[in-house]
Amino acid sequence: MTGKSKRLGIMGGTFDPIHYGHLVTAEGARYTFGLDQVLFLPSGRPPHKRDAQVSDAEHRYMMTVLATLTNPYFEVSRLEIDRGGISYTIDTLRALREQLGPETELFFITGADAIFDIASWKDSDECLALAHFVAATRPGFSLEDLPESTRQWVARHQERFHMLQVPAMAISSTEIRQRVREGCSIRYLVPEPVEHYIRRQRLYNQALPPSRSGAAN
Ligand code: ATP
Ligand code: MG
Repeated sequence: MTGKSKRLGIMGGTFDPIHYGHLVTAEGARYTFGLDQVLFLPSGRPPHKRDAQVSDAEHRYMMTVLATLTNPYFEVSRLEIDRGGISYTIDTLRALREQLGPETELFFITGADAIFDIASWKDSDECLALAHFVAATRPGFSLEDLPESTRQWVARHQERFHMLQVPAMAISSTEIRQRVREGCSIRYLVPEPVEHYIRRQRLYNQALPPSRSGAAN
């Protein structure tokens, strides 16, 4: 991952589980910003989800690998998982910058919801010094509604802060976990191998046993 003016997308997330909203966003960023690669980084323990029950990192890693296998531009990194503890974006960006050197341009990709508290991120100004930020549209989160302090923060960083329109996918991992718990279908919300993995590993307190095909409902 070295070389002159390489453009690397960084898609961080809990990915519990990874779904088409994540994939469409990463692909949109790749295409729009001419990225050579998008690196998916399943988090260790996310700072904003400290109290929430998060699935084992190995399950989240496996599902991310399964979901990205068929896209030659997508890769999965164990950086945050292997580092353990709470995953702060700044630590990841510093590690990647050190590993890749100054020639690689970093593009940190997030959904619009993540921007709402970006000003309170650990060392948020340094994050922007290390990487461009790409904020993708996400149904239910309008950047028009940003609080004033965040607006000012975005305005200060506008040269490194990019908006990205992606096809609207009103999907969240929270909703998918709930659907699985209640025995509802998640087909076409996650890639098929991810659905099979969820069924086989019996993630998310499934209400129903898997069907004979391994992909119930
Ligand atoms: P949860 O409901 O558990 O918070 P999530 O669906 O928000 O899960 P995360 O792993 O928290 O998924 O999100 C990782 C990144 O992907 C975040 O930057 C988030 O904003 C973005 N993202 C998630 N879902 C979508 C979506 N449907 N459209 C656009 N961006 C999304
Ligand atoms: Mg989320």
